[in-house]
Amino acid sequence: MSIIEHVPNQLGYADTPVIPETGRRVHDRETPQPRVVTPGAHAGDAPSDAVVLFDGHSLAGWESVRGGGDARWEIVDGAMQVVPGTGDVQTTHVFGDCQLHVEFRSPDVVKGHGQGRGNSGVFLMGTYEIQVLDCRDNPTYADGTTGALYGQYPPLVNACRSAGEWSTYDIIWRAPRFEGDRVVSPASATVILNGVVVQNHQVLLGQTNHKVLPAYHPHGLTGPLRLQDHGDLVRFRNIWYRPL
Ligand code: MG
Repeated sequence: MSIIEHVPNQLGYADTPVIPETGRRVHDRETPQPRVVTPGAHAGDAPSDAVVLFDGHSLAGWESVRGGGDARWEIVDGAMQVVPGTGDVQTTHVFGDCQLHVEFRSPDVVKGHGQGRGNSGVFLMGTYEIQVLDCRDNPTYADGTTGALYGQYPPLVNACRSAGEWSTYDIIWRAPRFEGDRVVSPASATVILNGVVVQNHQVLLGQTNHKVLPAYHPHGLTGPLRLQDHGDLVRFRNIWYRPL
C-alpha cells in the first residue's frame, strides 16, 4: 500500500457532482490517470511519444512533391537544405491533429527583398502554409510574414531572429472536418515562434492560396507535412510531431 492510500480521498471521490459537459464527477476517482510521457531533456527535444520526421541524418521518409520519387534536397550540417528548383518535399507519412515541432534557419547571406528573402513554408497536411521568411528588417505584406497563416492572418507579432540563426515553430494543429462538400469544422492553428505566440487558436478560412480568396476543398483527416522550395537556401532540422 502506498503512502497516498493512507490519506483519505487522495485518489478521488465518488460522491461529488457530475460535470454535465464531461460526464465525470468533480475529482472523480474513476477517471484514469494521464498517460506518462517522458519529456525531452531540453526544450525542443522530442518527447518519448513523438514521431520523428527528420533526425538530421537522412531524407528517408521524404519524397519530392513534384513527380514523386526521392526528396532531392541536401543534408548540410545536420539539417535538410532546399536545393532550389527541385521543388517542395513532403513526408511519406501522413497525420492529422497534432503538436508539431520544426526548426528552420534562413540563409546567412542576406539577399533579396520581401517575399524573395529566405522564403520557405511549413504546409500542414500538404495544404495549409505557415510562412517561413527572413523577416528582420524586410517589409512585405503582413499576411506573408513569418508566423502568418499565409494569405489569411498575419502573425500577432514579428518574433523573427536574425538571418542565419535557428528558429523554432511549435504548432498545435486541428485538421478540418468535412461532410461531403461541406465544412463541418474548419482547421485551426496555434503557432508559437521562438517561444512567442504568433497565432492563438486561429481558425483558417481554407487552403493556402496566392492573391485569391482562401477556400476549403474537402479532403481526409490526414496528410503529409510539406516544406517549400521557394528558391532560397532555407534549412530545417529537428522535426517531430505528436498525434493529438
Ligand atoms: Mg512561403
